[in-house]
Amino acid sequence: LSDRDGKIWYNGELVEWRNAQTHVLTHTLHYGMGVFEGVRAYDTPKGPAIFRLGDHTDRLFNSAKIVGIQLPFTKEQINQAHIDVVKANGLKSCYFRPMAFYGSFKLGIAPKPDDVQVIVAAWAWGAYLGEEGLRKGIRCKISSFTRHHPNITMIKAKANGNYMNSIMANTEAHQGGYDEAILLDATGYVAEGSGENIFVIKDGKLFTPALDVALDGITRRTVIEIAKEIGVEVIEKRITRDELYIADEVFFTGTAAEVTPIREIDNRQIGIGERGPITTEIQKRFFDIVEGRNPAYEHYLTYVG
Ligand code: PMP
Repeated sequence: LSDRDGKIWYNGELVEWRNAQTHVLTHTLHYGMGVFEGVRAYDTPKGPAIFRLGDHTDRLFNSAKIVGIQLPFTKEQINQAHIDVVKANGLKSCYFRPMAFYGSFKLGIAPKPDDVQVIVAAWAWGAYLGEEGLRKGIRCKISSFTRHHPNITMIKAKANGNYMNSIMANTEAHQGGYDEAILLDATGYVAEGSGENIFVIKDGKLFTPALDVALDGITRRTVIEIAKEIGVEVIEKRITRDELYIADEVFFTGTAAEVTPIREIDNRQIGIGERGPITTEIQKRFFDIVEGRNPAYEHYLTYVG
């Protein structure tokens, strides 16, 4: 990923992709103290449009506040950086990775407070859990790793170090021949995927864990809006592992994962064993919104112009 043509926004400048480097004594590389976002732009009839950019930037700033990082740029500058990297790289659709991290000024646990580095990178990236996954659904495993406890790592922060837990869960699932992990919280209830929120459909109602155990996903918020629009009741509640097994439909949401059906969990078929009818409807409406085919949701699109 590092050896390619293009530009990355790095501390306010567009630098050559290959020169967007940092030193091996970079503080965040050692301790994981940083915050980031995952954002997407879609190819719409009016050109590339960034989906819910303002909401992602707000979450980035909230993440920084939670972990105590002072961001040296304004929200407007970060938003503009996204637009600039799409243009500079001539992208039609892309995934963005904004991140704030501590540099290499010193390596003690306490970083130098103003040694904060900020990047925004963008590149073309297709379906995170595969095109086939979007159409047919994926196979998941309940992880042996527990999701974070709110007072150990800060769940509302999309913080770099939190993702060690995600990487171990995802790797374990892959090594077992599954596509993705589902993590339970410290009390044994369903929390989320390694990088996705989870939804369950039972008897026509949509259930999802409350936000005390999962990231406040922006795709999750969008799906809740869509569900209400199509008259599907949304209930936030504790969900048990066996409720997943006997659900009619289960799906993941995320900027990377979009709306991905889950067709099997722990070798048990979920519902009809393929993308179910409500998931299909929500997924279709999601893609209509992000790809600029639903004028009612135009306010979520930032056109790159
Ligand atoms: N949970 C976790 C742990 C994630 O990493 C993500 C991806 N950011 C999500 C949920 C989904 O959030 P969003 O829809 O905002 O991408």
